[in-house]
Amino acid sequence: MKGLSPEQHQLDLTGQIEKLRSQLSSEQHQIETPTLAYGPHNPLEVDLTLCDTCSGEGVLGQSNADNPKLRWQVRCRCCSKVSGQPTRNPWTAALMWNGVNLQSMRYSELPLFGLTDLSPRDAHERIKGIRANLVLRIALCSAQRQLFNAGGSNRKPGTTYTAKLEAYLMWAMLAHRLIKLAKARPRPQR
Ligand SMILES: [Zn+2]
Repeated sequence: MKGLSPEQHQLDLTGQIEKLRSQLSSEQHQIETPTLAYGPHNPLEVDLTLCDTCSGEGVLGQSNADNPKLRWQVRCRCCSKVSGQPTRNPWTAALMWNGVNLQSMRYSELPLFGLTDLSPRDAHERIKGIRANLVLRIALCSAQRQLFNAGGSNRKPGTTYTAKLEAYLMWAMLAHRLIKLAKARPRPQR
């Protein structure tokens, strides 16, 4: 960080970590967090939905952009649709692909977060709480990693743990968009 001595930088990060920890353990936050158990599904495993444009299958592959590092992207087998910019992790590309092809998905069918039997309004409340908790936990990991890199700690948050939190957040954002769609879509009359 510019303008801060290494010691000040470490102190600053330690302060951030304290603050995030106390937010996470506050009574208010615990009331607003519906669950920390999102279900047995591994968030790094993502089934690709069909293309909204042509109903073609999405295919996950390595992009051959002129980036020297391995990057992932999903492409439609039939049309020119892609998931977006190539990403470092395959699950990010897969979740981005699903995020731009929402039509054949339903929030109630997601394998995470226990939304199956909830109305769009209740599902929205639940996802809002889950998202807020994930954002805090990811910020805590990031501050802890920075402190480790700055030499101020010998505890580094696990890479897989952090990746899973980030994937859960992407799933939660996907759920949020699907809930919004369901709210806008009139319920079929039975
Ligand atoms: Zn397509």
